[in-house]
Amino acid sequence: MYFLTRYIAFEASHFYRIPELNDQENYQLFGHKANPNGHGHNYALYLTVKGNVNPVNGMVLNIKQLDDTIRGYVDQHYDHKLINLQHPVFSVDPHLQPTPENIVMQVWQAINRRLKKVEIAELRLDEDERLYTVYYGAEQMVHLTRTYEFSAAHRLHSFELSDQENSETFGKCNNPNGHGHNYVLEVTISGEVDSRTGMVVKVDDLDRIVDKQVYGRFDHRHLNLDTVEFQSLNPTSENFVQVLWDLLESDIHSLDPRRSLQLYRLRLRETPKSFFDYYGN
Ligand SMILES: [Zn+2]
Ligand SMILES: [Zn+2]
Repeated sequence: MYFLTRYIAFEASHFYRIPELNDQENYQLFGHKANPNGHGHNYALYLTVKGNVNPVNGMVLNIKQLDDTIRGYVDQHYDHKLINLQHPVFSVDPHLQPTPENIVMQVWQAINRRLKKVEIAELRLDEDERLYTVYYGAEQMVHLTRTYEFSAAHRLHSFELSDQENSETFGKCNNPNGHGHNYVLEVTISGEVDSRTGMVVKVDDLDRIVDKQVYGRFDHRHLNLDTVEFQSLNPTSENFVQVLWDLLESDIHSLDPRRSLQLYRLRLRETPKSFFDYYGN
């Protein structure tokens, strides 16, 4: 089985409004996203299809054929449109909010019908640099990733090792005065899309949790000296990502215990050259 990914960009506007709610209630629920005139994004789609290689042409699928299908659909129905009023599905159902969760599912369904001999394996939709959704075709289940950046200093040092051994193991990172990073944390949530809001999770709720548990504890801190979590724990990114998981998991789960909301993955980027993924135990 082979997997082929194609990138497609488009620009569109949208707004979120529940018809039964008045203006004030919509703003309360959706914030600025309730502006009925719309606001816009530079969207990016990453379409991954799977299939076998055709022995005659050596391809899973001719890229031109793939482009004709997806580019054609996206150009016709999304690009430079106000999705709420101009998309054939969203315009006839004002209760279907054009969130990145609902858009990624809608594009999947539309494209899947049009593709022959291959299936979609994964579809990712970036709304901006900090937010993307991924759909794998499972009912109403969508993965949403939000990105956060913060700064912290640390010193890699294990109390289990001698000073000499620490210096040999961690090199420059063992500098007694420490050094720092712009950490980038990607928080991926999986859950069922709420049919009323069109969301897996309200991004503001997630931001509030990360504000308290991540920024409140670690931003502009020296991990070894200023935090209780690393009083005796070596602040490697492996240990850090597990500490972050433990701090975030139950708060995220408790946002809506009736549904299937889960912390799915944390990705911690320590430098542009290395990142660490943790999926819990
Ligand atoms: Zn938006
Ligand atoms: Zn470091």
